Parts: sequence; structure tokens; C-alpha cells
Amino acid sequence: MRQLIRARTLSFHADPQETENAFTYHEDGAIITENGKIAAIGDYAALRAPDLPEIDHRPHLILPGFIDPHLHFPQVQVIASWGAQLLDWLNTYTFPAEGRFADPGHATLMADAFLRLLLSHGTTTAVAFCSSHPQSAEALFTAAHARNMAMIAGKVMMDRNAPQAICDTPQQGYDDSKALIAKWHGTGRQRYAISPRFAITSSPEQLQMTGQLVREHPDCHIQTHLSENLAEIDFTLSLYPKARDYLDIYESHGLLGKNLLLGHSIHLHPREIARMAETGSRAIFCPTSNLFLGSGLFDEAGLRAAGVMSGIATDIGGGTSYSMLQTLNEGYKVLQLRGQKLHPLAAFHWVTRGNALALGMEAQIGTLAPNSDADLVVLNSRATQAMALRMETVETLAEELFVLQILGDDRAIAQTYVAGRPML
Ligand SMILES: [Zn+2]
Repeated sequence: MRQLIRARTLSFHADPQETENAFTYHEDGAIITENGKIAAIGDYAALRAPDLPEIDHRPHLILPGFIDPHLHFPQVQVIASWGAQLLDWLNTYTFPAEGRFADPGHATLMADAFLRLLLSHGTTTAVAFCSSHPQSAEALFTAAHARNMAMIAGKVMMDRNAPQAICDTPQQGYDDSKALIAKWHGTGRQRYAISPRFAITSSPEQLQMTGQLVREHPDCHIQTHLSENLAEIDFTLSLYPKARDYLDIYESHGLLGKNLLLGHSIHLHPREIARMAETGSRAIFCPTSNLFLGSGLFDEAGLRAAGVMSGIATDIGGGTSYSMLQTLNEGYKVLQLRGQKLHPLAAFHWVTRGNALALGMEAQIGTLAPNSDADLVVLNSRATQAMALRMETVETLAEELFVLQILGDDRAIAQTYVAGRPML
């Protein structure tokens, strides 16, 4: 089906931190979608045609759908759990909640709720850890495939330092991942992420088999955690006494490369940063989680200067909001504490094209370029009384974006399109 969507449109074709000519904005713009893809984008006057069905979202602003490159599907009922830092928080709240995902009925119910939450917050693609039970990944892929939503997910691999009910074994983790890859990787818009939770919960044998999976499936993503919290780092290094540093554990098992997404990456040594840059491994900044769990302050400018590409993500349920707008709000504040600035143009680039680049998927998602998948978010900059009042004095696009970045949340999401279909 061919349709025209009319609104103000904004899409980035370059990084605003690297060039002034980074985006295209149409004040009276239009996007033509056809068969789930963007067929054309431009001025409404140039694209309108007789008999072409039109949806009018004026005066709202359309961007590519938001991309959330790190969060945990089985933690939908863990978000907002009080009073702990990382290791206690995992043992007290997270591990018991993940145990419930052994039940396929629970996993199916939660998958539906999870995707509805993402869409109501304008997020159209996410990279998600599931529980160690293959049925949790099965439920999430099934629900995402039914919506034609691009999901990257994997069953978590963990064989120690957690309750038996949520552990696998090196062989079981390998076999279950292999079966899920065969069934789901490349099925419609679904992609598989090989998912060792982190070095604390994976034995050397399991990381060795993870490396084998990575060699056998070089086009899959790999997601894990790195240097989130100081107690975590100490415990990790005590488990791998021969490792030069935390990253070396993943490096020595063959996991580094452009497909590796390293959640948090806060407390890094120069050698680790240099190896991440050399191998193209990605750092994923999770500001609401880092503040909530008191983990530390991400060094965006330092990593950028060293040549490491970063994504930005919610990290539900250590993170405290599904909203990528609220994630940018907290990200702005974390970087303020670092003496760094998150300009609104850079911020909106980050949650769209920037995260797509981090995933190596910028040809499919993250921009409004023709032939991209028609995943869109429609933003209402006057969604609340506070925003509407502030908007009365706003004069530039960058100022408007900053209002959305600081004050926006799911109330600012007027509509979300997945492959050309409205989802709200
Ligand atoms: Zn995480």
C-alpha cells in the first residue's frame, strides 16, 4: 500500500558533531511509504498526488523511529526496585524475576506488554537480552515478528554465580542459541544477538563456546556488559586472574569486533579503550541505569576522541524509563557532570542514525532515506502544559529538540509507525 504522511520531517545523514551539514528538515514535509519502505521524502507540494491517501500529522515532527541498543526483556517487572547497586540488585530483584520466564505463558504475556511499551515510547528497534530460557526469546521474536518490528535479541547465556533455575550449561547455552539462530536470525526483520550476560556469570568454558558461536555466525550481533561498577570489576578479575583487564576476558575468547555491543563501558583502562577502537567494538551508554544503580559517569567525549563508537540505551530494568527522550535527558546530565555537552542535534542523531550506525544497520533503519524501512516516530513538542508554555518562546529547531530532549516522554509520542503501519 502506498500512502503519504504529511508533517515536519527531520532526518540525519551525517553526525552533527562532525559536520554542520548533517540533517535535512522539511517544514511542510511529506514521506511516501510503500510496502513497508520509504519510497520518497521531500516537500509536501512536490510529493502530493491525486488518489494518494494522506495522513496529516501537522504541526508534529517526524523522525526515524528510536533505536534502543541495550535493554533486558525479562526485567519489565524489575524496573524501579529500591536500594541496591549492581550485584545486590541482580541477586535480590533481577534473578528471581528472570526465573519466571521459564513459563512460556508468562513470557508471551510479557513480550506483548514489552513491545507495546517500546512502541508507546517511540522505539521501533531494540537489542534485548532475554532470560536463559529459550522460550523467553521464542516469545519475544514471535511477538516482534507478528508486528513486523525489527528486534535483535538473544537468550542470555549464564552458567554460574546465579540461581540454578536461571542458569544453563556451556553445551545447553550453545545448543539453545544455535537452534534460535537457525529459526529466527534473518526471519523477517528478526536478528539474533549472541548473549553471554557478563564474565561473572559465564565460566571460561562457556565463553569458549560463545567464541565458537561467534565464529560460526559472524553476522550475528554479540551483546554483553563491561565495567559497569567497581565491585563488579573486582569480582570479575578475581574470577579471571590471568586476564590483563576486564575487556581481555572477552578478547581472549574471540568476541571483539564491530558486532560486539558492550553495555556500560564506564570504568575503562587505556588499553581497553585502544582495543575497542582497533576492533570497532561498540560502547553502549545507559545513563538512567548508571545514575539509578550509582555505577558511574560515561565518558562520551573521551571514547569519541579515542575512536570508539558509542550507542545510547535505556538498560531497562536497571534503567528507569523506556523513553529514549528521558534517556537523552539523563544522558545530558551525566555528560554535564563530566564537563561535556550533549547538543540536541547530536542527541537526536544519537537515538536514530547514531544507534543504527552502532548496529551496522544504517541502510535499513535510523534515517528517512528512500529504501529505508518506514519506521517512524511522530513527536508532539507541546504534549504537556510545561512543554507548550516553553514552546511559546522557542525560535529554532535545535531549541525545540532540546525541549523534547529534556521534558519529553511517552506523552510526546503522537504516533509510531512500524514498516509503514501506525502502531498506537
Ligand atoms: Zn544491561
